[in-house]
Amino acid sequence: MRICDIIQKKKEGRALSRDEISFFVNGFTNGSIKDYQMSALLMAIWFNSMNDDEISALTLAMAHSGDTVDLSGVDGFTVDKHSTGGVGDKTTLITAPIVAACGGKVAKMSGRGLGHTGGTIDKLESIPGFNTSLSKEQFIKNVNACGLCVVGQTGNLAPADKKIYALRDVTATVDSIPLIASSIMSKKLAAGSKGIVLDVKTGSGAFMKTVESATLLAEKMVSIGKSAGRKTVAVITDMSAPLGRAVGNSLEVEEAVRVLRGEQSGELLDVSVELAANMLSLVHSKSVDECRADALRSINDGSALEKFRLAVGLQGGDGRIVDDLSLLPKARFKREVTAAESGYFEFCDVQKVGEASSALGAGRQTKEDSIDYAAGIILNKKNGDFVERGESVATLYTNKEESFELAESLFKLGTAVSSDTKQGNSPIIKTVS
Ligand code: URA
Repeated sequence: MRICDIIQKKKEGRALSRDEISFFVNGFTNGSIKDYQMSALLMAIWFNSMNDDEISALTLAMAHSGDTVDLSGVDGFTVDKHSTGGVGDKTTLITAPIVAACGGKVAKMSGRGLGHTGGTIDKLESIPGFNTSLSKEQFIKNVNACGLCVVGQTGNLAPADKKIYALRDVTATVDSIPLIASSIMSKKLAAGSKGIVLDVKTGSGAFMKTVESATLLAEKMVSIGKSAGRKTVAVITDMSAPLGRAVGNSLEVEEAVRVLRGEQSGELLDVSVELAANMLSLVHSKSVDECRADALRSINDGSALEKFRLAVGLQGGDGRIVDDLSLLPKARFKREVTAAESGYFEFCDVQKVGEASSALGAGRQTKEDSIDYAAGIILNKKNGDFVERGESVATLYTNKEESFELAESLFKLGTAVSSDTKQGNSPIIKTVS
């Protein structure tokens, strides 16, 4: 088999066989296929797409290109969730304890933030002492002890995806539904859970800007999961505004704890409960409606909060943060962003809000950058809220005072005040199952 013939075939819009797909995935992972050849093939895929058989073969080849996680030592039904990425998305911190409190087992590998989006691992590491790199044995032990454990991704999980994704990033081939679907699902399959709930975000802060493209991506991923024998559901949720009030690591942990304490309602609670209910429906084979009621009960009776406290403690973190949020890292400097005129507030480009938080120190521009855990933004206004001239629309936090100028200008690029009221979208758009 020759890579040149495979590129030629895809360039002509013909479907590749399973063997051809395995050949290029393995060859690229072991270095025998070069970046320039893979780049040409990725561009041919971008233009000519892939059919469902090809997407499924690509996913499986990438999922088996490195280690796969063996969760057979977990006592119970394992269920995972994945978000396609957004701003202020701290749902894992809320859904995982809810699912654990209601009898599911969440053995989860999460990522770090990059660019404008946050990552669960960075949020958890803002809790003093929290350890996200446990041994395999400790990981399984924690899941069995409290129903949840969230760790960072091991270096050798789906290495083919890691290499291909890095190349896509620099060859303008990221925004391809077959490539995104296979990239995400290869990691989910390698991570081993029996059930998978996908949170596919849509809107200006998301990868998929329209509901139509988000639906197509969701359908492809659900079909890959099912054909690999995993129970899989996708929920399409809104990212035309940041989720909740907080953006930035310790600020988001604080908000998640308030939701788990039952002190905060609204779209963050709604999305978290919806995802948890879909996860529990896979675990218990019950209706999503029944599971939604169970999920809400676990917040009202404090059992989800107790799971969170236990999980934090088992991973070396200071569980007292649950009662005393002042133990989380706090920024030395804060600045109010005020409205230049009176009118209705709106988020017009959520990505800019994520970039503002990153500029304050909450994110990294390169993988090597260190994070300011206390940096971020508290949003004082939501889409459609009336704001008076001079009133605060957001509070910026940082330990790097010189970052305020850039952060404030980015925040202002992402938001507007106008005379028309723009009502927020419903946070839960639809389910694809
Ligand atoms: N997230 C991934 O893991 N892969 C993609 O291709 C896009 C988002």
